[in-house]
Amino acid sequence: MKIPLFLKYKNNNMKFLPFVVIYLLSINLSGQSGIKSVWLDELDTSKETQDLNEPKRKAPLKALIVDGQNNHEVWPKSTLMMKQYLEETGLFQVDVYRSKFTWKGDREKKYLPLAGVGKTTDLEIPQHEPDFVPTCKSYDVVISNFGWKAANWPVNTQKALEKYMSSGGGFVSVHAADNSFPDWLEYNKMIGLGGWGDRTEKDGPYVYYNNEGELIRDPSPGKCGAHGPSHIFPVTLRIKDHPITHGMPEVWLTTKDECYAQLRGPAESLTILATGKDVSGKAPTDRHEPMLMVVDYGKGWIFHTTLGHDDYSIENVGFILSFLRGVEWAATGMVTIPIPHDFPTAENSTSRVFKLKIDHQ
Ligand SMILES: [Zn+2]
Repeated sequence: MKIPLFLKYKNNNMKFLPFVVIYLLSINLSGQSGIKSVWLDELDTSKETQDLNEPKRKAPLKALIVDGQNNHEVWPKSTLMMKQYLEETGLFQVDVYRSKFTWKGDREKKYLPLAGVGKTTDLEIPQHEPDFVPTCKSYDVVISNFGWKAANWPVNTQKALEKYMSSGGGFVSVHAADNSFPDWLEYNKMIGLGGWGDRTEKDGPYVYYNNEGELIRDPSPGKCGAHGPSHIFPVTLRIKDHPITHGMPEVWLTTKDECYAQLRGPAESLTILATGKDVSGKAPTDRHEPMLMVVDYGKGWIFHTTLGHDDYSIENVGFILSFLRGVEWAATGMVTIPIPHDFPTAENSTSRVFKLKIDHQ
């Protein structure tokens, strides 16, 4: 009997074992999988369930955002946005670890000092840093806000992330973080699919849904990574009963964002939770492209969102909720964050204007 991915508990964290036991009992009692009812129980607000969740409430989850080199000039601001979103849930305590030599940090430079990382220097070209050594193992989940052309991390840092992940860590790739590190095979296994960086068929198949709703893995030769103009487009759920997507409308709208297309990569242990369809009239493909994904890497879990091009994209309630749930899931294997009343629908795009809280300053 195979325990579903989202019910697996991490080897470094036994506190969710009760849910697995409930799952096993439900099979014995009903003769069926019982998957849905088990994690619906996790979302229940009854006293009994709250007691099961109690340990997590007492100790906030520790999240680390790594950043510093990203072709998307919003990055100093988007790091603060993601940090604040996470902390507002009351579930997370968030630190930032930044490369000392930054790239494209000028547009949003007023946000640079607010991350609590000390002085950094913005360079014309991303530069490798031998002393870039975030202590991932001290965190429940690591979130990458690096992007296209980020300089390679030191080999020791790469190996440390691989060890952290294979032994049960959590990782989240946001938008252009899937452009980073095309030559680091294990990183590409973690993110499942990547874009640009001279990735080609040598790096793995294209993976997408066609217009008939079939999941396609296409190994044919070709370039990797494309997008049309930023615009509001529909996101369609492909897995509706995953903790991250449960309760979302089957189709919901982004705010203005890029619909990444023609991604390819190892795509091992990859599950596409939701796809996006470019409706700009200038779409690079006629496919439904992967938007929200989860990946199994050793005993570790990865959430990968291709959404989040600029601040107005990140203000999308669909981005915020899927990001928060994806981070919680990557950290714990479960989700407790409910769908908010202002979640977008197939007809209405919704956003929340970001206001920096004073306590960051
Ligand atoms: Zn972008």
